[in-house]
Amino acid sequence: MRRRTFLCFVLTISVFFSSVGFAQRRTQPPVQKRPRLVLLIVVDQFRYDYLERFGDLFGPDGFRRLMRDGASWAQSNYDHMPTYTAPGHGTMMTGAYPAESGIIGNEWLDRATGKRITSVSDESVKLLGGNPNDPASSPSRLMASTVGDELRLATNDRAKVIGISVKDRSAILPAGRHANAAYWFNWLTGTMVSSTYYFNQLPGWVTNFNNTKPADKYFGVKWERQLPEAEYLKRAGPDDPKWEDVSNAWTPDTNTFPHTITGGVTTPGQKFYTALDYSPFTNDILVSFAQEAIVNEQLGQDDDTDVLTVSFSANDYVGHRFGPYSQEVMDVTLRTDRNIATLLDFIDSRIGLANTLVAFTADHGVSPIPEHAAAMGLGGGRVPFATVMGKIQAAISARYNPQKKTPDPSMDYLLRFQEGTAWREWFINNNIYFNYDALKRDGVDVEEFSQVVVRAALSVPGIARCFSRLQLLRGATSVTDPIERRALHGFYPSRSGDVVMVAEPYKYIAETITATHGSPYSYDTHVPTIIMGAGVNAGRYLEPATPADIAPTLSALLRITAPSNSTGRVLLEALKK
Ligand SMILES: [Zn+2]
Repeated sequence: MRRRTFLCFVLTISVFFSSVGFAQRRTQPPVQKRPRLVLLIVVDQFRYDYLERFGDLFGPDGFRRLMRDGASWAQSNYDHMPTYTAPGHGTMMTGAYPAESGIIGNEWLDRATGKRITSVSDESVKLLGGNPNDPASSPSRLMASTVGDELRLATNDRAKVIGISVKDRSAILPAGRHANAAYWFNWLTGTMVSSTYYFNQLPGWVTNFNNTKPADKYFGVKWERQLPEAEYLKRAGPDDPKWEDVSNAWTPDTNTFPHTITGGVTTPGQKFYTALDYSPFTNDILVSFAQEAIVNEQLGQDDDTDVLTVSFSANDYVGHRFGPYSQEVMDVTLRTDRNIATLLDFIDSRIGLANTLVAFTADHGVSPIPEHAAAMGLGGGRVPFATVMGKIQAAISARYNPQKKTPDPSMDYLLRFQEGTAWREWFINNNIYFNYDALKRDGVDVEEFSQVVVRAALSVPGIARCFSRLQLLRGATSVTDPIERRALHGFYPSRSGDVVMVAEPYKYIAETITATHGSPYSYDTHVPTIIMGAGVNAGRYLEPATPADIAPTLSALLRITAPSNSTGRVLLEALKK
């Protein structure tokens, strides 16, 4: 009797296991010797603490799968400033800080032309998939190679490398200069676009995707909470705190749910597409587009490892408008968890996650809304542009125009790089640029002038630190001081300014946007770094790490040359021997 029970048990168990095995064989592609796909998932403006604050509400197959099945670094910080989208995206697949990648900001002053340019603007290429005469973009300003570039070199170009995002810079920079393609969302036409940098014509599948008008189906959609409001009240507080101010928003919006996505117009058009950016729904469009790319480009279908980078941007737009402690940010985070689950499930069924190396990170975090930080007693505030420039210009005049001549000859010592009345024209990314021609004309010593500007800037209430070009170039900064080190890592001589200012924590210099990032402080630097796949020991790691470590670690796992300027470390603690 006992033996028969045992036999029954064995039979049941073996039937159970063989049926599981059969089911797996039927639905899972076989495991290959080397990864067939490298998938980089980026969520724009995703602080590390979101994984913890909302973690109990995630499903099993999104962020929780990454944390469970991957190696996750809980102390991962960017080691550069400014902490913006382009510098972050320029770092993660190059392993290089902006000081090496050259991507020092989303925009900067091009001294050669005197123009304000973006990290990816390129007048020599044409836009594909939008209005052909609208500005187009390319990776020409990226100075370092990426993991994708190196894979292409290693496979005689058989590896395919594709970058996808809502933002051009977020699609283009992680993919690299030798990528097959980058695609981004065009807010003027509501289509996925690319440029003639990559090819002369969009692939047919992209045109087909655009013909379905992927954005227009969200016209008039109401963005509601995913869960009962009690969950949001517990974690994010009320929906309409007084510091959540949408009165200056680009498109009409409310500071409470539901948010109706029309852009204030009656049919889909530019205003609606902009409003769509400030909703969670562009993330859905990206997932569909990524699936189309995987199928139509046959990514991960052979032994030459392909690279797909997908950067979700909705989180950044929503975070800027409502701040990191809002119900809206909580909701877009929960929805992104589902987006990632959908994408990973799709890749699992088609390529197999066992054949895929997945990296997950963010380009930067975000600070609390300054008025929120002030209400919490954290000293939040805004340092007005007029105060900063008033103090600096007064100090310059006092030193170089003591006789108070009119017109004041020192008025053009700081570079105006844009005509017009835009308030940003004097500085950008907290970088002040000197007008070398004017200084030379009047025989002004640049080093002394620099000291005058630095001293004046430091006298402005709310400015914590100030670094001069000469100080940074001489390496006179202390690498043990994280703020000095981050300034140095963000400094690229031919593109950066002559004086770099840093505000006190929770303060913004001249920023009118509700919430933003860019500082060297933990709320902007602390982001997730997770790597999941064959050769990686899952677990939570407390060793210091940075997203700059992703590229050298992926390169080690792929057994290829690390990108040209890779300075991050190989995250050895999680690698199988
Ligand atoms: Zn941002």
